[in-house]
Amino acid sequence: MEVANKYVTLKTHIEGAPKESDFELKTSPLALSLDPSSDEIIVKNLYVSIDPYQLNRMKLYNSSQKMGAGLEGITLGKEIKAYGVAEVVASDNVEFEKGDVVVGFVTWAEYSKIRGNGMIRKLDPLGFPLSYHVGLFGYSGLAAYAGFFEICKPKQGEKVFVSAASGSVGNMVGQYAKLLGCYVVGCAGSKQKVELLKEKLGFDDAFNYKGETDLNSALKRYFPDGIDIYFDNVGAEMLEAAVANMNTYGRVAVCGATSEYTDPGKRAAPNMLDVIYKRIKIQGFLAWDHMDVFEDFISTTGNCLRSGQMLPLEDFSNGVETIPSAFVGLFRGDNIGKKMVKITED
Ligand code: NAP
Repeated sequence: MEVANKYVTLKTHIEGAPKESDFELKTSPLALSLDPSSDEIIVKNLYVSIDPYQLNRMKLYNSSQKMGAGLEGITLGKEIKAYGVAEVVASDNVEFEKGDVVVGFVTWAEYSKIRGNGMIRKLDPLGFPLSYHVGLFGYSGLAAYAGFFEICKPKQGEKVFVSAASGSVGNMVGQYAKLLGCYVVGCAGSKQKVELLKEKLGFDDAFNYKGETDLNSALKRYFPDGIDIYFDNVGAEMLEAAVANMNTYGRVAVCGATSEYTDPGKRAAPNMLDVIYKRIKIQGFLAWDHMDVFEDFISTTGNCLRSGQMLPLEDFSNGVETIPSAFVGLFRGDNIGKKMVKITED
């Protein structure tokens, strides 16, 4: 059997904010059968993840592209690797059978032909919707869990600030911090997001950073006694303002720098005298370096979701053709929670 496989490609390298016209939807015939000993599998994608880091892969050059499999630069006109959940429709790999549900690196496409080389694994949904395994139980959730507990080493009662707090990673960090008994303030880019953080997710406070002319004074207002932990998703001036408001022995987990991804001229220049004299620890990290806590992360998060102590925040678009707009929307703040595209009904 052969299908007409639709997939998204990059037409041109991107140096600023992405536009839908930077992408092209292509269609190619794909035989749903494999050469014996190809070791490959063909999967029908169910959900694909839409993540800000992909923009760094779309640049002509960026230092992050050298940092490992899945981060390399994207070749124009070719399929784009992305995390997702899929169903195996053909297999020449001993580890997988037709009908298996898998999670890992597929492509922004209806069907993906991939090698079962450790970038994909069979999925036990643990009784949760399959979409949870794209974000909540995927790298977004692991980044939130490992970044908060392993990098920030939080203590009950500490004061925690989270940026992009209604996003995929940020909302989970805030919820973990509340469960631990921290005082949590988040910032986000709209009134609707701020209300959601305070009224549904239990943040102690939240503010719309787009309405603030002086971030330093805004943070002084929300943290009159200083910040102990800053979970940074955006970089640039928000990181500078957070450092200026940090307490002695404060910790900053640098998870992402979304505001710098779209603006090559933007850089954070925190006051290094604050860093020295307040003994502030600023640490970047990658979720996948923390697979040692994966089991704890899944069981803690699963239990909290089952008991209703944590709320899932997911944001769907439908159909492979919506991938470019879903991606572009990340940088306009369109998404609330984990952004993903539902490719096929599960
Ligand atoms: P996300 O927060 O769900 O989506 C991006 C959000 O960023 C938008 O909704 C928008 O929310 C905000 N944003 C967009 N442009 C902005 C700008 N110029 N200034 C400030 N905020 C802006 O994305 P995510 O998947 O959770 O990722 C958050 C960050 O963590 C990203 O930088 C990502 O690359 C990083 N990350 C790192 C790891 C790791 O292993 N280290 C793993 C996953 C993600 P507002 O409405 O609030 O502006």
